[in-house]
Amino acid sequence: MTRQLAVAALSLALLQPGSAVAAPAASPANLDGYSPTHSATERDWEAKFRAIPDPKIMRDNMQRLSARPHNVGSPYDQDNAEWMLGKFKEFGFDTHIETFYVLFPTPKQRVVELLEPTKFTAKLQEPPVAVDPTSSQTAEQLPTYNAYSIDGDVTAPLVYVNYGVRDDYEQLDRMGVSVKGAIVIARYGGAWRGIKPKVAAEHGAVGCIIYSDPRDDGYFEGQYFPEGPFRPPDGVQRGSVMDTEYPGDPLTPGVGATKDAKRLEIKDAKTITTIPVLPISYGDAQPLLAALGGQVVPEGWRGALPITYHVGPGPAKVHLVVKSNWDIKPIYDVIAKIPGSDTPDEWVIRGNHHDAWVNGAEDPISGMSPVLEEARALGELMKQGWKPKRTIIYCAWDGEEPGLLGSTEWVEEHGAELNQHAVIYINSDSNSRGFLFASGSHTLERMINSVARDVPDPETKLNVQRRAQLRRVGRAQKPDEREEARSADIRIGALGDGSDYAPFLDHAGVAALNIGFGGESNGGIYHSIYDDFYWYTHFGDTEFVYERALAQLGGTAVMRMADADVLPFDPSTSADTIKRYVGELKNELKERQEKAKERNRELEEGVFTATADPQKNYVPPPKEQVPPYLNFAPLENGVAAYERAAKRYKTAFSKLAESNPTVWDSPELKTINQQLILTERTFMTTEGLKERPWFKHQIYAPGAYTGYGVKTIPAVREMIEEDKWADADAGSMTAGGVLMKEAALVDSIAAELEKVVGQAPPATQSARKHKKGEEVTASGR
Ligand SMILES: [Zn+2]
Repeated sequence: MTRQLAVAALSLALLQPGSAVAAPAASPANLDGYSPTHSATERDWEAKFRAIPDPKIMRDNMQRLSARPHNVGSPYDQDNAEWMLGKFKEFGFDTHIETFYVLFPTPKQRVVELLEPTKFTAKLQEPPVAVDPTSSQTAEQLPTYNAYSIDGDVTAPLVYVNYGVRDDYEQLDRMGVSVKGAIVIARYGGAWRGIKPKVAAEHGAVGCIIYSDPRDDGYFEGQYFPEGPFRPPDGVQRGSVMDTEYPGDPLTPGVGATKDAKRLEIKDAKTITTIPVLPISYGDAQPLLAALGGQVVPEGWRGALPITYHVGPGPAKVHLVVKSNWDIKPIYDVIAKIPGSDTPDEWVIRGNHHDAWVNGAEDPISGMSPVLEEARALGELMKQGWKPKRTIIYCAWDGEEPGLLGSTEWVEEHGAELNQHAVIYINSDSNSRGFLFASGSHTLERMINSVARDVPDPETKLNVQRRAQLRRVGRAQKPDEREEARSADIRIGALGDGSDYAPFLDHAGVAALNIGFGGESNGGIYHSIYDDFYWYTHFGDTEFVYERALAQLGGTAVMRMADADVLPFDPSTSADTIKRYVGELKNELKERQEKAKERNRELEEGVFTATADPQKNYVPPPKEQVPPYLNFAPLENGVAAYERAAKRYKTAFSKLAESNPTVWDSPELKTINQQLILTERTFMTTEGLKERPWFKHQIYAPGAYTGYGVKTIPAVREMIEEDKWADADAGSMTAGGVLMKEAALVDSIAAELEKVVGQAPPATQSARKHKKGEEVTASGR
């Protein structure tokens, strides 16, 4: 589902497949969390590992896995799962396929017709392209549709709503245009697609059409396929429009969709849309948009079609029909393990999805193929005698495209074990040429920066961390941003939604990362029949060297976490980032207060009516309630306590590096690792978010109205955005309480570590109480 697109490759002197790639300027310092001896051995093994991934093999993997359409429920989806099962076994992994049974609608009737003022019937077909062999596998291709649209047959006037997000409807209100009883047409972009029918329905629309404007990924951007990488006139973006209340199988929220699981009836599933929705191409959209009358759209709403964009409503009248087969289909998760030699009960999990909308060479195979290659390389290391300390689990998820089905069902089914054992989940999805991107739990920021310094960039021969950092310096808008970008580590972003990390992080409280490369190879084949091997080998990472970089990055991160003596989580970067979030929230409230005051003042002055063109339709905004002051004290106290504890931990951790090497043998380090694993769990509450209880994490959640986009400290931020002031105050209490608990946990880990390194705890801490269930062992040394 991740949207990372690609472009024509530069011709560069590329490293030869299989050649030993020396880590550029690896720091001689000890790896975080490794004893001096282990650090040296680990560096050795990691360097051996990075020399193994082979572009040729990853190209072959891609060709095999994308040879036929492999959506959920297709024969080739199962075939791929079984092929990968065999591969993982061949690499020496203990492997099985775990099957779940999920609701997966496929279309049986789709109609978009213009009835008035002229007649036009949309094709709703992507034509094969002669040079592209797999584009002609029409019998196996899923028709263009949006999965989890409710069935419907509606005829109504059409209204153009830009991206169809909430701000757009506010603009429509100013123009005096209502979508009540209308079918809306929205362009892709601006938010996750599932938000568009949701917001349209909230405003009274009866149907929703989503199209790909050529301005966003078509001819406006560059030459279109097959001459170039961009979206051709009949290309359509398929995709899920499942509601944001919870991901996974709509019929089994919170539990694994096993054969005998208790299921909701379809009519009771909360994540199916309430109005019918269908995606179309710009070829099909143009006659509909051209038939709209009414006001000309605001400038920011204009796309790149050769027409004047009007809002409507009408005179265009549209007939929209969507009917699906509502079948339960099996999905196949491939789960492959290497048991840990020392601490098998601690799991380092790595995954990518394998299902696609059609052939999906880019999404998801450009991620899946390197993940398989990582597994092969780890298998080679095992043959040479390497054994990971912790258990490593590689996962190839099915059903990601319809709604993170495979990962969510697995996480729900194994919730109790994950709670006990999961150390980290590292995800990738699509991959292409360009710059490192990494998002995730901020306790992992230091670790992933360190790993990225050991991975060479194929185009510049810098390491990928340095290249990403220099890009940030170059793109920074303000001097302080530039200085910040120059500081040693690149800051990682928070995770929202959009791929399989979401259930791990948001529902199970497992520290997570999402990694990949991109930014140099854009295109417009996302979720179409043209995302295939032909496209990727002409316009993607054609030499498969960023495929190798991803395998090197992902595998090194897995090894670094699996072999560490002390898990390299760093609470101080997390505390620092959360402090910024609290600052953002305070600013957000202040801005809203000022904006509301100013608007009310201008209403009183008559600014809106005085400046509106009387010949145009204009409705002034309503008077606004000025947001009250909120109580940020619980959050601020929580952050301050967390910062103090994190600092204490960091000090003790740095002592560990300087201590007598024998401290690394302390059995207490095992307890400390167990506690470190809990630092991410502690950000959760059992009740979850008030309006979306499936989401348990109190620091990160995807936005209810952005989808992919993250909302940090969601219980406060979203409630501020929705003018729910009492809920925002309650959210501040909850999140503040979570931060206090986090602070207490980190503080107790710091105290343990202080004992190990032989540093007396500060007097004020000596009488400190430990949390129930927390083992306190005397250091005795
Ligand atoms: Zn994907």
